[in-house]
Amino acid sequence: MGSYETVIGLEVHAELLTESKIFCSSSAHFGGTPNTHVDPVTLGLPGALPVFNEKVLEMAIQAGLATNCRIARKTKFDRKHYFYADLPKGYQITQFDFPIAEAGEIRFLLNGTLKTVRLNRIHMEEDAGKLVHAGASGMSGSTHSFADYNRAGVPLLEIVSEPDLRSSEEARVYLETLRGILMAIGVCDGKMEEGSLRCDANISLRPVGSDTLGTRVEIKNINSFRFLQKAIAYEVHRQGIALDNGEALVQETRLWDEAKNVTRSMRSKEDAHDYRYMPDPDLIWYHVSEAKIAAIQSQLPELPAARQTRYEGLGISPEEASVLVNSPSLSPLFEESMGLGSSPVEASKWLTGDISAFLNQNEKQIEETQLSAEKLHELLQLIDGGKISGKMAKTLLPELMETAIRPEALVEQKGLVQISDTDILLPIIDKVLADNPEQVEAFLAGKEKVLGFLMGQVMKATRGQADPGMANQMVRQRLQNMG
Ligand code: ADP
Ligand code: MG
Repeated sequence: MGSYETVIGLEVHAELLTESKIFCSSSAHFGGTPNTHVDPVTLGLPGALPVFNEKVLEMAIQAGLATNCRIARKTKFDRKHYFYADLPKGYQITQFDFPIAEAGEIRFLLNGTLKTVRLNRIHMEEDAGKLVHAGASGMSGSTHSFADYNRAGVPLLEIVSEPDLRSSEEARVYLETLRGILMAIGVCDGKMEEGSLRCDANISLRPVGSDTLGTRVEIKNINSFRFLQKAIAYEVHRQGIALDNGEALVQETRLWDEAKNVTRSMRSKEDAHDYRYMPDPDLIWYHVSEAKIAAIQSQLPELPAARQTRYEGLGISPEEASVLVNSPSLSPLFEESMGLGSSPVEASKWLTGDISAFLNQNEKQIEETQLSAEKLHELLQLIDGGKISGKMAKTLLPELMETAIRPEALVEQKGLVQISDTDILLPIIDKVLADNPEQVEAFLAGKEKVLGFLMGQVMKATRGQADPGMANQMVRQRLQNMG
């Protein structure tokens, strides 16, 4: 393939965590028996009029401020027309030329370099209903479809980036960063598997060095990070071959075919005029005061980027800090245990190390375990006070995660107290040295490495209970005395 630069822009749809829908009082919660979260407005019945849920405006302003956007002082809604069974009214209420927020940016670190992606805009709109195609697998083979309007009218933010992304990896980290921000400010739960965060990826190639945009393809409704990366990789490959062969690419909408791992053409891309946008006459202009913006700004919680910097300032590595920051469950536990007085470095090491490994292995979330900040803090104190070694603590972890028992009680129950008494350790060490004359000789001849083996024997003889630091020092001293 020739040398092309990949150009990607993402349109992200985030469902907002409001109680009720954007233009009526039906529940906006996910799921529910089909067609129970509906009413005349949701169904677009004649005469039903929309009433704007101002909580949506507030959340949109929060999202705009958190992504460094300029917040509009006045904003309005428009109708975007298309004809499909998921849209009872025949038009979607969205924002066209006066969106709530514009000209923002999102920054993230990738492989040690800071990347800035500009945001074109954020606007408010309503979600469509959901069609379930039945009778056979896949949309094309199905014999009939079910329509569920519970999701119709759920508030959405559409967050549109400029075409600033240059690889599938950048696209993934951008989406992760944006998701982290939306979750931190509490406007979206970020659950891609439930569709509360999904995106369309616009992808084009251009010759390296060119600064004009190539013809783009839009891949619709991407609902996982894996799918995002695979779909982009596939398009980059497909478009590269087409360009090499001198074929003209068409601007079109494509769908990712999960079964075949390819993108397929769905339709040629419509232009804005195809949608016959018009201001919605049922809704008024909304004015946003300086004071309202200032009030929302002052109540924004700590954002992920600031939290990352704060954690690094506590001596935590950037990698560990980012694991904590990006985990909605580890981060609060970390904060809480620091509040109890745990060492940040140790708490982070355990949370991002053994505790995360346990969670991955058992496919569990921290909330599904019995671990609490109090228990973590107590465990760290036992290690810090020399009562148990880190190694012993590791063996206790599964039980601490799965049962309600407190670390101190568990240590007592198991009789697992660390031996840091020289009178007990000395005879054990001497016996290990006497039993391993070859290793002792090797050490004395300068082979430092056998010390590890001898220490292993001491730990074995004490069933892991010897204080490793102390035992190590004593073994060394004993050997030096022999030399
Ligand atoms: P539409 O609303 O019709 O989908 P927009 O012009 O609003 O079109 O762009 C949508 C998204 O596509 C934006 O994220 C933008 O950055 C991206 N985009 C536009 N042109 C290109 C291109 N040539 N290559 C890649 N992405 C593009
Ligand atoms: Mg689009």
